Amino acid sequence: MIEIKQLVADATQWRKKFHQHPELGFTEHQTAQQVADLLTGFGLDVHTGIGITGVVGTLKNGNGPTIGLRADMDALPIQELGNPEHKSQHTGCMHACGHDGHTAMLLGAARYLAHHKPFTGTVHFVFQPAEENLGGAQKMIDDGLFDRFPMDAIYGLHNWPGLPAGDIAVNEGAMMASLDTFEITITGKGCHAAMPHTGIDPIVAAADLVLRLQTIVSRHVSPLESAVVSITMFNSGEAINVLPESATLKGTVRCLNKTVREQVETLIAQHVTSTDQSPGINVELAFTRGYPVTTNHAKNASVISDLAQQFRGEEHAHFNIQPSMASEDFAFMLEHCPGAYFWLGVDEGESVALHNPYYDFNDKVIEVAIQFWCELVKQQLPIR
Ligand SMILES: [Zn+2]
Ligand SMILES: [Zn+2]
Repeated sequence: MIEIKQLVADATQWRKKFHQHPELGFTEHQTAQQVADLLTGFGLDVHTGIGITGVVGTLKNGNGPTIGLRADMDALPIQELGNPEHKSQHTGCMHACGHDGHTAMLLGAARYLAHHKPFTGTVHFVFQPAEENLGGAQKMIDDGLFDRFPMDAIYGLHNWPGLPAGDIAVNEGAMMASLDTFEITITGKGCHAAMPHTGIDPIVAAADLVLRLQTIVSRHVSPLESAVVSITMFNSGEAINVLPESATLKGTVRCLNKTVREQVETLIAQHVTSTDQSPGINVELAFTRGYPVTTNHAKNASVISDLAQQFRGEEHAHFNIQPSMASEDFAFMLEHCPGAYFWLGVDEGESVALHNPYYDFNDKVIEVAIQFWCELVKQQLPIR
């Protein structure tokens, strides 16, 4: 019998080891190897190289429903400034988003479930690469994640500074925003700054476009919806006495629902077209769709919410909280499979934000998370 105490102690050691050896998206070779070795040791059927460095461990116990539980393994290109004894040994790379904790907790749950088998059915433990910006979830899907490992539902969690340690929060619907980016190149005709009538000024055209893009959220999107259009880069000109030939704008769009996301994309294109129609101005738009809105399926969100209330008590379970305007590529998985994504609080007193160079995962929530994953499996895959 594995005692939960021993399990938590081991998972904490794995977490610290992952923290010491962080790896960036799609280069999680050592991490994936450790995950695969541990899963094999627990007796799971292990599949590697799905989405380059992704790993799936399958645990089957008789015929019943199938669920997926997902953790992310990648770190960030940040130099760690804190000084824990398990400080990152890789210069310019650290686990500042707590994916070290996510991986360790899911491994802990896999070990417990493999040992006790308190369920009937199949659990796929999905360890994905490259959650940060690179879309590792989509890469796993492209590599046949849901074809090779069909699931009735998939669940994912993220640790959440801003929520008390051990609390659980979930929404029916949007949890995290979509993330799109765009680049606009405005070309006019360069000339002497003292003779502007001999050229076509791209800066004035770009400045006008920036202001019109800011009317998308304020004048077109319903005040009851949420969207962000931020122009984050405006580059033009090289000399004080020259009107340049061109100007470049770059920016990002965040939305909490698909319809608004499409509306914003269309409006950006319309404003660009209208600038393009100005005499002598030529405009090119490159719009890149990134992560979709992370939208929970209602039924699966209530599975998490009900379980959180039973398991953690009403005061530690939060339902229909404010979503975050940050993004998450678990969104791709939720487009292919019913499921839910939830937050696990990590705060004790002052909180350090995700992606901060002093961030260090709070090991005190490891036990709660392992137990929660196991309770979820027991409840969704009841013994027959
Ligand atoms: Zn992150
Ligand atoms: Zn993260």
